[in-house]
Amino acid sequence: MYANVIIDRASDALDHVFTYAVPEGMDVRVGQQVRVPLGSSRADGFVVETTEECALEAARIKPILGLRFAEPVILPEMMELAQWMRGRYNCNLVEALRLMLPAEMRRGGVHARVTRVARLVRPDAQVRGPRQREIVERLRAGDVETPLLPAQALRALVEKGVVEIYEREQRRAPGALRGEPLPDPELTRAQRRAAQEVCAALEGGGRFLLHGVTGSGKTEVYIRLVRKALEMGKSCVVLVPEIALTPQMARWFHQRFGADAAILHSGLSAGEKYDEWQRIRRGEARVVIGARSAVFAPAQNLGAIVVDEEHEGSYQSDRRPRYDAREVAWQRAQAAGAVLLLGSATPSVSSYMRAMPGVRPENRLTLIELPERVGGRPLPEIEVVDMRREFERGNRSIFSARLSEALGDCLEHGRQAMLLINRRGHSSFVSCRKCGYVVKCDACDVSMTYHQAENVLRCHYCGAERPVPRKCPSCESPYIKFFGVGTEQVVEEVRRQFPDAVVLRMDYDTTRKKDAHAKILDAFRRGDADVLVGTQMIAKGLDFPNVTLSGVVAADMTLNLPDYRSVERTFQLITQMAGRAGRARHPGRVVLQTYEPDHYGIRLAASQDFRAFYLRESAYRRGALYPPFTVIARIVFTAGEEEAAQKAAQAAETELNDFLDRGGHRPDIVQMRALECPVKRLRGEYRYQVFLKMYFKADTRSITAQMQTLADKAEGARAELEVNPVNLL
Ligand code: ADP
Ligand code: ZN
Ligand code: ZN
Repeated sequence: MYANVIIDRASDALDHVFTYAVPEGMDVRVGQQVRVPLGSSRADGFVVETTEECALEAARIKPILGLRFAEPVILPEMMELAQWMRGRYNCNLVEALRLMLPAEMRRGGVHARVTRVARLVRPDAQVRGPRQREIVERLRAGDVETPLLPAQALRALVEKGVVEIYEREQRRAPGALRGEPLPDPELTRAQRRAAQEVCAALEGGGRFLLHGVTGSGKTEVYIRLVRKALEMGKSCVVLVPEIALTPQMARWFHQRFGADAAILHSGLSAGEKYDEWQRIRRGEARVVIGARSAVFAPAQNLGAIVVDEEHEGSYQSDRRPRYDAREVAWQRAQAAGAVLLLGSATPSVSSYMRAMPGVRPENRLTLIELPERVGGRPLPEIEVVDMRREFERGNRSIFSARLSEALGDCLEHGRQAMLLINRRGHSSFVSCRKCGYVVKCDACDVSMTYHQAENVLRCHYCGAERPVPRKCPSCESPYIKFFGVGTEQVVEEVRRQFPDAVVLRMDYDTTRKKDAHAKILDAFRRGDADVLVGTQMIAKGLDFPNVTLSGVVAADMTLNLPDYRSVERTFQLITQMAGRAGRARHPGRVVLQTYEPDHYGIRLAASQDFRAFYLRESAYRRGALYPPFTVIARIVFTAGEEEAAQKAAQAAETELNDFLDRGGHRPDIVQMRALECPVKRLRGEYRYQVFLKMYFKADTRSITAQMQTLADKAEGARAELEVNPVNLL
């Protein structure tokens, strides 16, 4: 027997298999993690294939040294998925395989936690001494962990053969998997129809887009699909866009499925991750809830993958391999004959397009709609406030009169409010009123943000800090001022206007510690605070029954970003934020502050008309040749010297031009050129790009493969290929 092994080192030189002999008696299977000799040293690897024959000379083949675990860590279908990823994302096989196994397990070092437990084996034995009698009494009621018993007496009982000690694996359960079991609620008509349709597809597979307004009970549809899948002996994966949302979703699933629910995400401790992964791998937990990377969970006999809030950009990885969890879910579900269910109140333009008539069957999503909120609750009314008017009226506060009044009313009635401001820190930027100088980061091409809590200016790209200048560094005038609004300033304004209100802040700065997200959200849920101020983190999918007011402090902040998706993102953010209010008995109210009340993104969000927005936005994208009507691919070149980055980009441009001409690809290209990146300097380095936009019908596969080749051979600069990146900076 021979095994073809891929070495667990991500260098291109090793992205092919090495053949090893399987020693007599060693049970080696595909997906197994093995230790092998490599040159004069040793390495870890994954078995990709086993064969009876081998063309190489027997004497040159070295044997496998050992197995990391008795069971294969990569399931056969996951091995195939990794192969698919290699082609799709231009990555090494190992880079894909690594996503399928927690890093701590790959490197070793984490193990099951075992505790020693005492068990009574001779209940009738006569024992002497109060301590020994006490132990026997306690053990009659059940086994007890040894540290909880008096050591000396216990040892005596073990020697007499009255008590026996054994080892038990102890599960390190993530905090969110708690809570009392709950019965299923009765479904609404729309939910029932949706559930029936998706459940029926568990035989043979299907792909769906569940477009349900906020509060329409999409989660309940997911739960019924999962229940049915479990009844059929299958497993499921449920993806949420952020780690912050896993506790809520996990709690809901735990209440319905008990120990069958598992959590998998990078915020768990190494031990928790190990235990959850093993429970899934062994089939003890058949419902996996997690963020992006949970799409690689070792769930066997897959019945369904659910992607909640499918429009979120966080499903796309921002590092190599730059995979998109929605695409991977699509591929994995298709290969397994499983159901793919994408859900959102604001589907992405590209997913919604797949649900429109005329799409080819292999690209199609079946649209299911939940047009109303559960229990006949109305969608909250959105009041648009024109902040220019506010200014004319002499209101210099960041809160309009309307927002202040609504907040006062909400607090007076003992309800809670959420306020969105999509910028952390205190102010967006610091600039001189006299000469216009803006304080920028020394290492990046971006303005620095004032953080009042630490009284420093901070760069949100590289984290660099510097003291707040008293005079303008350029003209020395003292009129250096803060402009724009951040979370800290909103908190301050709430406290100024409502000194008795308890305010919580949730943004990147307050959530860096483990479980910090969950702590803030739990405190808010318990009612320990009246107002939650936060960045887009608070806009997504959270369900707080006592929230009746939702405020968008500055809707324009995301509207005018230099990105073709800025209107779509603004629309989504407003809709999601509006969706947080009035989800239970008390009706909700939404105040939306903007300087551009007539912008279609704002207008259509305010009227909560997704279909109209989709038609308008897709017409714009089609006309302006933006995705999903085209594909954007770029190679970003980074170097310490500007010239080096520029030269590398130009060299790649020349070669790519050649390639496009030779291959006859030219008619499929909208635009291709080398130029500087919108943020030219980042972390002290210079950035140039080869930017390519091609029609959807182009041979994207071979063009991006060529771009990857050019990235790999770039000289004098680091180079990275990005296809339809979330971020075009
Ligand atoms: P969405 O994700 O569509 O915004 P959720 O799934 O969060 O909505 O559901 C909104 C609220 O309605 C939740 O509190 C949920 O428990 C409740 N809910 C959902 N379905 C039902 C139902 N059939 N009967 C009663 N309450 C429901
Ligand atoms: Zn100045
Ligand atoms: Zn910086």
